[in-house]
Amino acid sequence: MYLKRLELNGFKSFAKKTVLDFDSPVSAIVGPNGSGKSNIAEAFRWTLGEQSMKSLRGKKGEDLIFNGGGGATRMNRASVTLVFDNSKKQFDIDFPEVAIERVVYRDGANEYSINGSKVRLRDIIELLSQVSLGASSHHIISQNEADRILGASLKDRRGMIEDALGLRVYHWKIEESGKKLTKTKENIKEAQSLRREIGGHLRFLQKEAEKIEKAKALKDELLGLYKEFFKKEGAYIIESKKEIEKERKHPEDELGKIEKVIDELDSKRGGTDQEEVSEEQLGIEKSLHDLRSKKDELARMLGRLEGIVELKEREAETPGSDNGEHMLPAVNVGSFIDELERIIEDAKSSSTLDEAVSGLEEIRYALMSFKEENIDSEESSIGEAINEELEKLRGEKEKLEDDIKKIGESEKELLDRLEALKGELTQKAKERMTKEREYFEAKEKRAELLAGLEALKGREEALGIRDREVEHELHEAGRIYGEEGKNELEAIFKKDGGDGWDSSSGAAVTKKEIERLKIRIEEIGPAGDAMLGEYEEIKGRDEFLEKEIEDLTKSEGSLKEVIKDLEEKLEVEFKKGIGKINIEFQKFFELMFGGGKAGLQFARIGKLKSEEELAQLGGDEEEFEEGIDISVNLPRKKIRGLEMLSGGERALTSIALLFAMSQVNPPPFLVLDETDAALDEANSRKYGDMLENLARHAQLIIITHNRETMSRAGVLYGVTMGSDGISKMLSVKFDEAVKIAK
Ligand code: ATP
Repeated sequence: MYLKRLELNGFKSFAKKTVLDFDSPVSAIVGPNGSGKSNIAEAFRWTLGEQSMKSLRGKKGEDLIFNGGGGATRMNRASVTLVFDNSKKQFDIDFPEVAIERVVYRDGANEYSINGSKVRLRDIIELLSQVSLGASSHHIISQNEADRILGASLKDRRGMIEDALGLRVYHWKIEESGKKLTKTKENIKEAQSLRREIGGHLRFLQKEAEKIEKAKALKDELLGLYKEFFKKEGAYIIESKKEIEKERKHPEDELGKIEKVIDELDSKRGGTDQEEVSEEQLGIEKSLHDLRSKKDELARMLGRLEGIVELKEREAETPGSDNGEHMLPAVNVGSFIDELERIIEDAKSSSTLDEAVSGLEEIRYALMSFKEENIDSEESSIGEAINEELEKLRGEKEKLEDDIKKIGESEKELLDRLEALKGELTQKAKERMTKEREYFEAKEKRAELLAGLEALKGREEALGIRDREVEHELHEAGRIYGEEGKNELEAIFKKDGGDGWDSSSGAAVTKKEIERLKIRIEEIGPAGDAMLGEYEEIKGRDEFLEKEIEDLTKSEGSLKEVIKDLEEKLEVEFKKGIGKINIEFQKFFELMFGGGKAGLQFARIGKLKSEEELAQLGGDEEEFEEGIDISVNLPRKKIRGLEMLSGGERALTSIALLFAMSQVNPPPFLVLDETDAALDEANSRKYGDMLENLARHAQLIIITHNRETMSRAGVLYGVTMGSDGISKMLSVKFDEAVKIAK
């Protein structure tokens, strides 16, 4: 016995708290029409989670709350509690008792609780499904609904049987999984559409990212080359500059020296010495010439004098032997000598030979005139005079010879001086030559040095060009790697390394390679890092979506699998259940009708359609309905269809089926609301027998007016309603019950 009691408070006509204890396997509720018996059946149904207001005979939740009347005030809430014994742990809850309560407020709000703790409707349904209970189930058979199962469609009937077999849980699980599946499919679609949406942009970004990656790789490669280049160039330029400085020192020093030498040589290069020397030479040469002229003159005079002397001497040796014409008178000799001396003096002092010659010419004329004047008159004194004159002439001759000798000495002196002067000049010329050579050599050397320095300058200028190229390249690098990268490269360039400086040709190769890479980077074009960030983000999103789709597809698969599994299990369980029900159905049917045959079958029938519908569908597309059909075969009657049964027969058949269903999977209790209304006395007895039979498997709460039925109950409750419209409940004895029921 599970069901212990039912507590109503404010539910429909039960304004006051009403408690029904179900201590017996069969409890009957009796009372006059309209006293509120069916309200009790509805209280069960409602508490078990019924959502259909129609089956509760209301329009909205508020209709379930006691509405007052006859002086009684209306209530604001209705509550019903079903209390189960759980000492045998039929419910998977660690309480000896399970109280399920449902409350409704005037605003239509519902509350559910299990043992006082608020829960969701779903929790209630789950809990009840553990004991084969449900709101719309077969175990609460409402008034006039006894043959509901007979009148139901194939499909609905199948649903009712499934409920009875406790298979609703499969549907519920299938439905849950179906919802999840739908949601999953929606999510897949959504994710796929999102993926498609970002796909284009992602592809674009991917291309950009690839470009960036490629540019990055090229930039990395370029950086390596740059490092190599700046290192080589730096080393080369620094070392070259040092080398040039070193190379420049010697020629510069030398140039200084040579300049001095040149200046010195230059200052000494005047012509004064030579000129002086030449002037002196010329003077000497002139004096020599003059002396020689004079000497020659004197020599000629001497010759003449010697001739005269010789003549005089011969005259002296032979006086008168001569014709006397040549005899000179002594008186005139004196004046002649005087004249001669004057001429000689004049000749000496005369500067030119012509003058000397003309002087001598004068002497000749004097002597000739003297002879003409004196030859005849002075002949007698010739001897003496000749001797005297001879003496004088000899004196003159000696004097002349002496003068000539002196002139010869002077000449010799002058020649010596001239000789010395020539020697001096030769020496000076030699010296000048040497200096001149030195001067030209120095100039040559200077030219050489200047050429060397010029070459160094040229090298320096070439280095300058390279320096500027480096500067330009650094600027370029700055454009690519930013200020920091540029500084790093500049530091490499400026580092005084020295290793590898000799491979300037290598630098040229590197430079070529650098240019090539720069062009390639340029070709790729600018691609912002921000785009890379966006790419990563979109890619991440795409990967997330891809993973999401993968996961969702997996769960779609597993949900389908679960659904398939559940459907298979449901099918298997259902078939098993139908088999079992059929056995029980046959038994109850035989019991009711004293024979015959009844059973449930799987059926598939074409749904009837109007001609119009068929025309629309093209005529041959018939819809089918699948489900469970009932076949009955009454004893001694040729009745094949349910439609041919009488009201009583229908009632009996439906009861037999309901009982059979309950027996296969017995719920804790069954509420039967005037299920027996259509039975005659004989059938009522059979019905009573069935009740007893059934009560072995489930508690029965029977609402009835049937005496026979009442007689089978262990507990009887009488329901009455006073003028206040409030249903009252009291425990009654059989006789009282029979009375109350009327
Ligand atoms: P019968 O034997 O004729 O089937 P019954 O005993 O099953 O009758 P019910 O149908 O359960 O009687 O009771 C209906 C009674 O409950 C009516 O009198 C109706 O006015 C009353 N009732 C229904 N809802 C409310 C409500 N919200 N407030 C007050 N009374 C209500």
